[in-house]
Amino acid sequence: MPRKRILVLGGTRDARQLADALVAEGHDVVTSLAGVTAEPVLPAGEVRIGGFGGVAGLKSYLADGQIGLVIDATHPFAARMSVQAHEACQSSHVPLLRLERPAWVAGDGDKWVEVRSTAEAAAMLPPGASVLLTTGRKDLEAFFSRSDISGIARMIEEPPLAAPARWRVLRERPPFTLASEARLLADNGITHLVTKNAGGTATGAKLVAARQAAIAVIMIARPAKPAAPSFAAIGNLMVVTKRLLSP
Ligand code: NAP
Repeated sequence: MPRKRILVLGGTRDARQLADALVAEGHDVVTSLAGVTAEPVLPAGEVRIGGFGGVAGLKSYLADGQIGLVIDATHPFAARMSVQAHEACQSSHVPLLRLERPAWVAGDGDKWVEVRSTAEAAAMLPPGASVLLTTGRKDLEAFFSRSDISGIARMIEEPPLAAPARWRVLRERPPFTLASEARLLADNGITHLVTKNAGGTATGAKLVAARQAAIAVIMIARPAKPAAPSFAAIGNLMVVTKRLLSP
């Protein structure tokens, strides 16, 4: 009897939509969340929450859970989970697919500078910069420790360290509209937008707003992930999933 259960590595809106679509097609799906969001919007199917305990823990989970396919639908910047999933799947002989939205690409009128890390982004900001920081709750220290810049740090969850007085933490959950992003930039005199290249539409409006207001964007490039068959669209991934799991 072939193993048919699908493990979706989640934590993204795309992963949720994927799990919903797989369950609607009759697949047996368990979505895994890291447990960083206090009140996550849950997908259809089963949900498990918390780390697996590294590669060894994930290998045990694959075996115990009779997992027949892993779909890595984590955020493009969740590189550690993707590396561990790749290693565990390879050694457990479980197929691995990836759902990954395309990266954003600069267009006409964009003033982007691409960097490799949050540290590089923080170092690049000129003194006096008024920043909209949308890199999440990790790696805030590099920005908060600079006494010569200020701004707004937007994230879903409470930051792990207190923001200095010159920073305002804005706790908001995407999606964001172009109108609200344009207002946020204008009302706060933002001169620089710092963002990870997450891709997708839910958080893409800020880039259009920055272009329209001629605001400089410091774009943090995606980390490399191990090779795996990757799909930008849920539809194509569903077709391959069906083929892989058919007896
Ligand atoms: P990460 O650095 O790649 O992973 C750190 C550890 O968290 C992993 O070693 C693993 O613990 C655990 N983990 C990560 N994703 C998991 C999942 N889907 N299910 C179970 N355990 C998971 O990940 P991260 O960047 O902290 O992201 C954590 C979660 O937030 C991910 O689900 C990701 O999709 C989501 N997210 C991340 C970002 C971002 O910018 N990084 C943005 C939006 C959403 P063990 O080693 O114990 O297994």
